[in-house]
Amino acid sequence: MEAIHNVIIGNGSAGNGAAVTLRERDPDCRITIITMGSLPFYNRYDLPRVFRGCYDWREILVHPLSYYDDQNITLRRNSRVTDVDGRNRAIVFAHNETMHYDRLLVCAGGQGYLPEELSDYRGLMNSFSSFEAAISTYKALPAGGTLIMLGGDMIGLDLARTLIDTGYRVVLLTNEYTFWPHRVADDERDGFIKALEHMGIEVVDGVRPVTVEEGEAGKPARRVIFEDGGDILGDVAMPSYGLVPTAEFMLGSGVDIERGMLVDPMLHTTDENIWAAGDVCQIWSAEDNAYRFYYGWSNVRLMGEVAARNVTGANEAFEGLEDERLRVDRKGHLASPFWEH
Ligand SMILES: Cc1cc2nc3c(=O)[nH]c(=O)nc-3n(C[C@H](O)[C@H](O)[C@H](O)COP(=O)(O)OP(=O)(O)OC[C@H]3O[C@@H](n4cnc5c(N)ncnc54)[C@H](O)[C@@H]3O)c2cc1C
Repeated sequence: MEAIHNVIIGNGSAGNGAAVTLRERDPDCRITIITMGSLPFYNRYDLPRVFRGCYDWREILVHPLSYYDDQNITLRRNSRVTDVDGRNRAIVFAHNETMHYDRLLVCAGGQGYLPEELSDYRGLMNSFSSFEAAISTYKALPAGGTLIMLGGDMIGLDLARTLIDTGYRVVLLTNEYTFWPHRVADDERDGFIKALEHMGIEVVDGVRPVTVEEGEAGKPARRVIFEDGGDILGDVAMPSYGLVPTAEFMLGSGVDIERGMLVDPMLHTTDENIWAAGDVCQIWSAEDNAYRFYYGWSNVRLMGEVAARNVTGANEAFEGLEDERLRVDRKGHLASPFWEH
């Protein structure tokens, strides 16, 4: 009999948690991991280390390079899925290949959200969403240079901490995404903003960036212009407005999608052969009477593991791990559970 083919779309924390569990529970099944990325699985929470001298992706790999061969897992890199046909259990790639699956785990994560009004300026802004993007940002920032961070979010603020620590200047233009994914009450916000200032971040509150331009000759490389006509100069401009699920390639698959792929607590979608885990999915919470996201390395990995156990016959509900409260620590600095990994 032909081995069952388990296909995982996504080579992040969720996809790898799923692959390890699938292999443990079924030594004979076929496992294929598909990723758009060019590198094996690395720890993206370690990306700020490029500012501390880590320029080689091998230093942040989670598994040794031989891991996929040792585990008999096929890793398909540089491969973008454009469509999933749930009825025929088929995945379509951008290069038009079709792959058959018996069971599909979608662990496609999220991508940085950019407000529509700034989308024309994407090419003038840096990101930090991959190892390659982190290195480009590092190269674009001269020693002691200024990074203008639009929004913040806990991923951006994690980078900001490292930049301050390594002698750069960070100017933060705050908005409703500044503490994403934390939900911050109005009466807590001032205290958290003060904690950011105490950490050395220069906060500009209450402006709305609408244009990003190249700086004039002899001036810093970027100029961010506000709605009220004011502006600010810096070497790099970086949007940090939280993540949106990467679920658009699932639109024709037949599964239910709201912002993310909708799953029950067992991480099962509305298609009997498709599960989802990680930043791409919203999980039904009976307590909240709504679908909700869970973020963070441990939550996401656990989701991958639970989904894989359910793919292989279990019927386990996912329970979120983390205390998700934002706090100010004894030094007066911001402290987030998303930074503890
Ligand atoms: C730079 C960065 C730093 C972060 N730092 C933190 C942090 O410090 N603390 C924290 O709590 N959270 C952090 N996060 C949030 C974090 O991403 C997660 O909660 C978690 O890592 C998500 O894991 P995941 O496996 O769901 O997805 P990801 O790690 O995003 O992996 C998604 C995978 O899906 C693949 N993929 C997507 N679409 C397709 C497609 N169409 N075809 C083929 N492959 C596809 C991608 O190539 C990738 O391999 C960070 C996120 C980013 C982007």
